[in-house]
Amino acid sequence: MKTKLFRNIGYLLFILLALSSCVNEMDMVEDEQGLETLSSRTSPPFAGYEEWVKKLIDYDKSADSKSYLGKVENFLQSIYRFIPEMRDVVDDLINRGFKFRVAVRHDDERKSWFNPNSSEIGFSGVENLKIENMIHELLHFFAFYTVDEYRKRLYAAREEYEIRVLTDLFMRRDFSTFPYEYQGMKIDHDEYIRYLGWLDKLLKNEVQNMDQFSENFIQFGISRLFWIEDTKIKVADLNGYRPRLLGIIWFYGKIK
Ligand SMILES: [Zn+2]
Repeated sequence: MKTKLFRNIGYLLFILLALSSCVNEMDMVEDEQGLETLSSRTSPPFAGYEEWVKKLIDYDKSADSKSYLGKVENFLQSIYRFIPEMRDVVDDLINRGFKFRVAVRHDDERKSWFNPNSSEIGFSGVENLKIENMIHELLHFFAFYTVDEYRKRLYAAREEYEIRVLTDLFMRRDFSTFPYEYQGMKIDHDEYIRYLGWLDKLLKNEVQNMDQFSENFIQFGISRLFWIEDTKIKVADLNGYRPRLLGIIWFYGKIK
């Protein structure tokens, strides 16, 4: 009886040692690349994530939008469940203690917005309360607290186009059955088909050259943002672009 017990303990120790050496190896690889661990991206959502994601909502300050909160919760849960990269974004924001207030009210210009001063994510009427707008604004929320030059409101055009491309990638891959209007290129633009082909290449990890990637990004970005240029979004700011948000969220581990 005792021998069996010892044998079992020995076996357990062996497994634990083997596991800890795997972990060390992983750490080393990541240290070498100077990157953080991103466990939430690779593992499936854990039990109880439905409640976890609600930590991102500031319920006290969302009283005006009470009737829409169920829908916002559903979006957060779907985003967390189906988009591995967004799991990481949501975990990071929650772990840093950030929350957003939900607002649904008509805005003259924007379909949705993130206002860092009031930490508000807003939708212009219930018709714009859509999952793709939620993804888009969560990315602005994350960008504000993660990319220094975006927090300083420099290069708004770069930030905007990075977010449009990321939202398009996630929608094309993870919500492909949803009716969806691409944000990175207008459907009636000459470049539309070529843009979708570029997204597919990115989805298949076929884009392996950062210079080539940046060149295409600038080219498509100019075609699209030209139409929405304003006091903040200046197409000229795209020149010299290198991946920032896309580097953190998309290219992590895919390109050296
Ligand atoms: Zn935006």
